[in-house]
Amino acid sequence: MASTAQAWQLPLKKVVNMTVSPPVVRTVADLRARTADARKSGKKIGLVPTMGALHHGHLSLVDVVANQSDFVVVSIFVNPTQFGQGEDFEAYPRDEQADLTKLAQTGADLVYIPNVAEMYPAGDASKVSVSGISDKFEGEHRPGHFDGVATVVSKLFMQCLPDVAVFGEKDYQQLAVIRQFVRDLSIPVHVVGAPIIRESDGLAASSRNVYLSSRERQIAGQFNLVLKKLVHAVENGSVLIDAEQAAVEALLSAGFDTVDYVSIVDPATLEPLIEFKGHARVISVARLGKVRLLDNMAIGSSL
Ligand code: AMP
Repeated sequence: MASTAQAWQLPLKKVVNMTVSPPVVRTVADLRARTADARKSGKKIGLVPTMGALHHGHLSLVDVVANQSDFVVVSIFVNPTQFGQGEDFEAYPRDEQADLTKLAQTGADLVYIPNVAEMYPAGDASKVSVSGISDKFEGEHRPGHFDGVATVVSKLFMQCLPDVAVFGEKDYQQLAVIRQFVRDLSIPVHVVGAPIIRESDGLAASSRNVYLSSRERQIAGQFNLVLKKLVHAVENGSVLIDAEQAAVEALLSAGFDTVDYVSIVDPATLEPLIEFKGHARVISVARLGKVRLLDNMAIGSSL
């Protein structure tokens, strides 16, 4: 029979191994060296771009990419160019050590944490701008936001050269913008959308949820319920504009301060729909104090 000491040693060793954080690189050169090695040994590279402050939504993306690749890179970079004037770039939650501890529990093989000078070297003068799909909804409320996103994601793609990259459906318009420039620029990366991960009351997990006061956090849980009701109404024949209006009113009476939009759109082009023809997406942003909460849901069958 194993002694008490031996009985303790076995599980302890396992736990220690699981909590070893993946290696970190901070420069393009180091990232390229590591990914080139992996590629040489026949590995398929997967990338999950993030801004850190990781939560279970981000970690689910790592699981998704780990199932579709052999060498998983997670990037952490709070990208200044996607924040507008007066937005929370400075205040955005940053905790590298906590992020690395969380990544130790996942299939991440490498974490890429560049600084601003590495991503935007002195004299940097180029950007990726996607017209049309970037202009409405978030593009209208956050001018320049999608130029920042498209530029930084393009840079990450060029730096890492992944075979596959995963993005959350939580940022539904962002995913559509990324698919658009990947197609337009013939970038050889397979873009995968992953489902929204929610808290127990249905609120979509977000790094910005920490900004909510406890009163606001309670109200925030109503957001997904209002959208679910809209989905049900549309699937049961409601006129789209009536369903959108009812959702706006329900959000305001739940205690949201403002509703930027509730819009039922074509799931691929994000063009607003007048009539429901079997598949659609409701996309919405509502504000509680300073916090803009995003959510969206499929209506009808997926494409
Ligand atoms: P961020 O760090 O907010 O830039 O997000 C990095 C990636 O995680 C993006 O692809 C987001 O869409 C995705 N993401 C954020 N929150 C969630 C969530 N609750 N469920 C699924 N994906 C998410």
